[in-house]
Amino acid sequence: MLRLENVNKTFGGNLALKDITTTFENNQTTVLVGPSGSGKSTMLRSLNLLEMPESGKYYFDDLELDFKKGISKKEILEVRRETEMVFQNYNLFPHLTVLKNIIEGPVHVLKEDKESATKRAYELLKKVGLADKADAYPQQLSGGQAQRVAIARSLAMNPRYILLDEPTSALDPELELEVLKVLLQLAKEKQSLIIVTHNLAFAQKVADKILFVEDGQILFQGPKDDFFNSDNQRIKNFLSAMT
Ligand code: ATP
Ligand code: MG
Repeated sequence: MLRLENVNKTFGGNLALKDITTTFENNQTTVLVGPSGSGKSTMLRSLNLLEMPESGKYYFDDLELDFKKGISKKEILEVRRETEMVFQNYNLFPHLTVLKNIIEGPVHVLKEDKESATKRAYELLKKVGLADKADAYPQQLSGGQAQRVAIARSLAMNPRYILLDEPTSALDPELELEVLKVLLQLAKEKQSLIIVTHNLAFAQKVADKILFVEDGQILFQGPKDDFFNSDNQRIKNFLSAMT
């Protein structure tokens, strides 16, 4: 379970997160939606400690962190070890094959032996539908394939949580679909996912819980059906603007 409590984050005097309190349950998919600039990425990056809020608490499973007191290097590593980020632009190592991209973390960070990491990498490639691409280089892949490799690479680290920031927004619709299918499958398998997306049809399919963020605040958090059937005018306006 991840929990932010009264979390505030400013950039140059502007509050990007205003007194955020929310819980991300294990084995669930939480989807963050909201207008551009509302603070979705900042919230996601705070969960991975890529951003450091100025105040508030962060409960990371059994770990209790206080942003005001500061967070040690050891705690940062512990959080990062269990939260894998998947970005819009894949961030694959261009000079490594797909297979080597996937086993890099398990072998060099987790100190797994190469043989078992390789075996697992092939399983993961199969899972994301790319069993035949192990020896390809990233520039030989479509955007959708590259993103599926990035997802396989994050799974290879066995994180408790996978955080995805607009994982398909750089993709054409037909390539987007193949990535969304993989994410739907992971959600079905109860992998804990936290996803930022502007694709509301996908959000409606994949989410257990929706967080609607506006102007650095959470305007709604709850089951997806309550969100998509909400009577709240601001939510209705957002939904109609987006569809
Ligand atoms: P989008 O949907 O466009 O990706 P978002 O909801 O992810 O938007 P954030 O990127 O979290 O929004 O930004 C929230 C606010 O914080 C915005 O006003 C943004 O300009 C500001 N902000 C974010 N990162 C920085 C930064 N590194 N330096 C200064 N301001 C920032
Ligand atoms: Mg963003």
